[in-house]
Amino acid sequence: MNLKQEFERCLQAGVKENEPMSVHTSWQVGGPADYYLLPADEAELREIVRLGKKKGLPLFVFGNGTNLLVRDGGIRGLVVHIGDPFSYIRRENDSLRAGAGTSLTLLARRAAQEGLQGLGFGGGIPGSLGGALVMNAGAFGSYIGRLAAEIRMVRFDGEAVTLGRQETEFGYRRSNLAGKGIIVEALLELAPGDPAELQSEVEGYLAERRRRHPALPSAGSVFRNPAHRPAGSLIEEAGGKGLAVGPARVSQQHANFIVNPGGATAGDIERLIGEVQRLVQEKFAVELQPEVRIIGEKR
Ligand SMILES: Cc1cc2nc3c(=O)[nH]c(=O)nc-3n(C[C@H](O)[C@H](O)[C@H](O)COP(=O)(O)OP(=O)(O)OC[C@H]3O[C@@H](n4cnc5c(N)ncnc54)[C@H](O)[C@@H]3O)c2cc1C
Repeated sequence: MNLKQEFERCLQAGVKENEPMSVHTSWQVGGPADYYLLPADEAELREIVRLGKKKGLPLFVFGNGTNLLVRDGGIRGLVVHIGDPFSYIRRENDSLRAGAGTSLTLLARRAAQEGLQGLGFGGGIPGSLGGALVMNAGAFGSYIGRLAAEIRMVRFDGEAVTLGRQETEFGYRRSNLAGKGIIVEALLELAPGDPAELQSEVEGYLAERRRRHPALPSAGSVFRNPAHRPAGSLIEEAGGKGLAVGPARVSQQHANFIVNPGGATAGDIERLIGEVQRLVQEKFAVELQPEVRIIGEKR
């Protein structure tokens, strides 16, 4: 039995070979995944991890692909998508238990409806809960890590574990969860609040994003903000707005966004990231660090 047949035997959705990552990333770029897998539940996920380990294949996991630059040569080995089967929300007292594939915006809206406060900042962040925890996604002065009371994950040795607050660490757009395993679920600790006020808070954040963020395909902020000044303002003052490589360009609306109006490659975007870094280095002697994850092989 070859690997494809082995996966077909144990996964409801089977496996796709050479699946273009451009259809799974918000930048709409990225070459093929050798084996693209959409597990239906934790048991299937453990089976994938077990098989991958047995065959000695690398494994990459992603959620909504909104913080990823996948290079044009694609990703070797197994690429696991934590998607719809892991999208669910359950209330437990003043907390919400949610699957790692749940959209952050959906979570923010549900928390508001339930009269639970703490998640409003997530309204409009287009990631999944799993990706948000790994990246410690945040906005408007708040971030997801502070809410995470429990995180359940399948480790890369195939064992499922539940991490409590003592075992997790969150910093600015980083956590100690990266590379540890695949997040399947989390318990988010919230506090009681007024549903109407919370709903208008979420809708306010969504409206602000629509005003501030470009509508074209992007991965949100490309660079981390250096300690004393936002990356966007450094790029703008260095004259970076409108800088382009192929169709990829620095947004006129928000200088820390690189947009793909159509037809850009990951190579164009990666070169443009380098151009922006050079510009800001020359002008301000500041080394901008990408916030987006750059993965896969060059073509
Ligand atoms: C228009 C726009 C606006 C944005 N605004 C913000 C913002 O305000 N604040 C902010 O913080 N971010 C923002 N982002 C970036 C992005 O949405 C967040 O970083 C988000 O949390 C990423 O989630 P994701 O599911 O898309 O992760 P992905 O891009 O799929 O993956 C990101 C990382 O997480 C890992 N990962 C994903 N899922 C799992 C899992 N289940 N288990 C283990 N590892 C996993 C991946 O391996 C990868 O390293 C924005 C992006 C866009 C396009």
